[in-house]
Amino acid sequence: MFEKILIANRGEIALRVIRACHEMGIRCVAVHSTADSDAMHVRMADESVCIGPPPSSDSYLSIPAIISACEISGAQAIHPGYGFLSENAKFVQILEDHGLTFIGPTAEHIRIMGDKITAKDTMKALGVPCVPGSDGGVSTLEQAKKIGDEIGYPVIIKATAGGGGRGMKVAKSAPEMEQAFMTARAEGKAAFGNDEVYIEKYLTTPRHIEIQVFGDGKGQAVHLGERDCSLQRRHQKVFEEAPGPSISEKQRSAIGKVCADAVAKINYIGAGTIEFLYENDEFYFIEMNTRLQVEHPVTEAIFGVDLVREQVRVAAGESMSFAQKDIQINGHAIEVRINAEKLPNFAPCPGRISAYHAPGGLGVRMDSALYNGYSIPPYYDSLIGKLIVHGRNRDEALARLRRALSELIIDGIDTTIPLFDALLSEEDIHSGSYNIHWLEHWLERQTS
Ligand code: ADP
Repeated sequence: MFEKILIANRGEIALRVIRACHEMGIRCVAVHSTADSDAMHVRMADESVCIGPPPSSDSYLSIPAIISACEISGAQAIHPGYGFLSENAKFVQILEDHGLTFIGPTAEHIRIMGDKITAKDTMKALGVPCVPGSDGGVSTLEQAKKIGDEIGYPVIIKATAGGGGRGMKVAKSAPEMEQAFMTARAEGKAAFGNDEVYIEKYLTTPRHIEIQVFGDGKGQAVHLGERDCSLQRRHQKVFEEAPGPSISEKQRSAIGKVCADAVAKINYIGAGTIEFLYENDEFYFIEMNTRLQVEHPVTEAIFGVDLVREQVRVAAGESMSFAQKDIQINGHAIEVRINAEKLPNFAPCPGRISAYHAPGGLGVRMDSALYNGYSIPPYYDSLIGKLIVHGRNRDEALARLRRALSELIIDGIDTTIPLFDALLSEEDIHSGSYNIHWLEHWLERQTS
């Protein structure tokens, strides 16, 4: 087992990793920019290295700075968290070449899944159901129009290098194709340096259902059921739950097995998430994330396993601590993402926290790097906390969420807490009747 791990991240996810490592008796090295000298992850780690100025391109995304920090501190492995370098195949390749262990999949797995066209082709070949669409990339407008006519409108044009909801455009009908095709290409080029796009049937009322998988890198893999992350704003998740209110045990084991078998076949190592759109009882693969997800705690809550501990174990060459037959779902869990943002426009709202109090009690987990007097720097993502609740069933989890939100105090800045208070008064949230467009429509109604 490793003696020392460097965490190439900040905020709540850095704390999350430190906690798992400390329980395993592993020492942790934090890295931080000059804007984060007072951050909680620096305080909680056993040692820390400053890796550069505030902009993430010069610090948390700087491969040379992170490798130097590893060398200075003598860390044997790097946990990337999510975001930043977590899905950067070049970074992983460099670590592999330097004999450092990346806690995650191989550079090759990241490469395959990072290109959405290759990912879709690979999944299709492994028997995973996909959204109908173009066979590979589409390079001319004529070709795009032909495919639009063949699969039928509406369609979605997606940048193969896209991510974070960027590089996607919907064409509702043939006359909209030109504009959508050109915009998706331009966005792909501007944001990711790659203008290759592909086309898919646009599903109008799907839910976002994702399957948590975990591989040992030696041909064994398990699934840990699904998460429903349909409540999204601008393709970004805000509320996640497990199990999915619309998924039956039969569907879960069927799609779970397809996913576990697929990743086992490619000798996948570590945690991964296979994302689907789900409509009329059918699953359609959209992408695979080759890392720990922001919303992983809902899965941990219902299965009672520590996914970071398992990541560290398999990265060190050990076996996983459980097999498929050892795990089963217990109750229901919900996570809400608390962002430093001002409603109703969700404008980023960094600043000084004048008072912070985390909720507690049975079935409540607050993952956050906030503390009294902390100043949230303006340079990074606005996620400042995740509140996760667990109950014996969905109603109990919802009641617990309402209670926990009422205890949570974050003063000094604006946050998205009032959004969740309001959502908990909605009948559709209680009945679980929502799809990926529900929240956008609801938000429009609130401001009109
Ligand atoms: P990203 O990598 O940017 O997150 P994804 O491919 O995961 O992109 O898609 C993000 C979101 O975009 C999905 O959760 C869904 O809301 C929407 N989306 C993607 N593909 C489709 C599709 N074929 N039909 C309808 N909505 C889609």
